[in-house]
Amino acid sequence: MLKERIPLGIICAMPEEIAALLGDMSAIKRQELAGREVLTGQLFGRPVAMIESGIGKVAAAMTATLLLDGLKCRAIVMSGVAGGIDPALAIGDLVVAQRLVQHDYGRLQADGVTPFRPGVPPFGPGRADFGYELPDDLVARIHAALDGFKLPSLPADLVGKDVRPPMIKIGTIVSGDQFINDEGARARLQSVFGAHAVEMEGAAVAQVAEAFGVPAIVIRSLSDLAGADSHLDFGKFVAAVAPTAAKVVERLVSVLD
Ligand code: SAH
Repeated sequence: MLKERIPLGIICAMPEEIAALLGDMSAIKRQELAGREVLTGQLFGRPVAMIESGIGKVAAAMTATLLLDGLKCRAIVMSGVAGGIDPALAIGDLVVAQRLVQHDYGRLQADGVTPFRPGVPPFGPGRADFGYELPDDLVARIHAALDGFKLPSLPADLVGKDVRPPMIKIGTIVSGDQFINDEGARARLQSVFGAHAVEMEGAAVAQVAEAFGVPAIVIRSLSDLAGADSHLDFGKFVAAVAPTAAKVVERLVSVLD
């Protein structure tokens, strides 16, 4: 069967995110491609090729291309952390992207950016289809796989004892080459894109995956809330929340079989 022979591509932007998956990986072999270390082996019962992309859209797109063209992976899973945008979400919650948008692609005028689909000339009124959406059947399989799934709480010494357990949202993740560290920017990403979370790679991976005709699932636990304190929260929470995304990777790999 496909899933026993052809590797699934796994991308993480940062070492903390790779570390959260590495403990579950076996039969690891290492090679170098374009200055990046590629780890091949078995993860959650399937062959995988995993790369730490580095931060940002170009690094992520290049890594996705290496996995899909160079290593002929059958699909991509991106796992890592993000800033929360939806005010209903808290640090430690998790977002799976049903829709990915490059929030910094478009036309910049005094009243802000008019979004366009990457590659489309950013002139004229703009169109509604600027995002990358997962197909309905895959979204339905993701919902089914996560139905009733409970995430472990973050350590009480980090978040206090009285916080609710982490929640999972299947929604919109926006990506751009900026770390969002400002309430106004956060509010804009919510109102313009209906974003639930923001990060710096996922929608670039979606663009490459679309070009190769394969699915890409982006899974992000929230390290911060993209506001004035996000730079402080990021450092405090990144290592604690990254394993949450890894748990959801484990839960979701079957939807790509
Ligand atoms: N300070 C870090 C850099 C982090 S950049 C360092 O020195 O290594 C933030 C990374 O986490 C990116 O890979 C991005 O995808 C994700 N991320 C988390 N919170 C984010 C936010 N508020 N805005 C944008 N990206 C965020």
